[in-house]
Amino acid sequence: MIVVGLTGGIGSGKSTVSEGLARLGAVIIDADAMTRELQQPGAPVFNAIVERFGQEIVAADGSLDRLALAAIVFPNPEILKELNALVHPEIGRAIRSRMREHLGTDSVVVLDVPLLIENSRYPVAGVAVVDTPVDIAIDRLVNIRGMDETDARARIARQATREERLAKADYVIDNSGDRDALALLLPALWEWMQGLEPVAADDQRLADPVDPPDATDGKSLA
Ligand code: ADP
Repeated sequence: MIVVGLTGGIGSGKSTVSEGLARLGAVIIDADAMTRELQQPGAPVFNAIVERFGQEIVAADGSLDRLALAAIVFPNPEILKELNALVHPEIGRAIRSRMREHLGTDSVVVLDVPLLIENSRYPVAGVAVVDTPVDIAIDRLVNIRGMDETDARARIARQATREERLAKADYVIDNSGDRDALALLLPALWEWMQGLEPVAADDQRLADPVDPPDATDGKSLA
């Protein structure tokens, strides 16, 4: 198994790149999708969040009210840290468990994460960053996804900057062009991934910490 981190700001085209890589044969571990799963009503993370924040973050249909939760945590870094401490260790466990299923195979596992990847947390052999100028990302979010522009700008402002991401990149995918231009970049990305170092069978980063001290870096997955 080779593990590659894939990151990019909201609207950069990270999901589009993931889908393309899946078609080429990559196994995608989508941290956002996993987070949503772990926050389904009745799931342990959902229960822990309700216990901490009360019924006001539960929507009328019983699901997690993400907007209400965001309104509580984003203005207050300490509270955001608390939320991350509830959520991140569980996500880490779920991600490691999915990775262990592929250990010893020739799978190329793409870890699709909105956060900057610290290689110490997962056995990531390289980090690929989807890079798109902020104005183009906003234009796509507003005009294709129908997002409100102020909301799109606020979300981008909460994330790592383009420069911070690029500083961590081992490979950069330029998504400032059209979809066809992006598709043409994928085979070289896939080839680069396949040449990376496989994970050793005894890599300790695949083991679950006994008392999980998973890093919370102030960036939320909620
Ligand atoms: P992310 O996962 O990084 O938030 P997406 O892959 O969902 O971004 O892309 C944001 C939006 O822009 C989507 O609607 C997607 O279909 C569209 N998109 C992505 N790349 C391009 C591109 N090169 N040209 C035009 N639209 C694109």
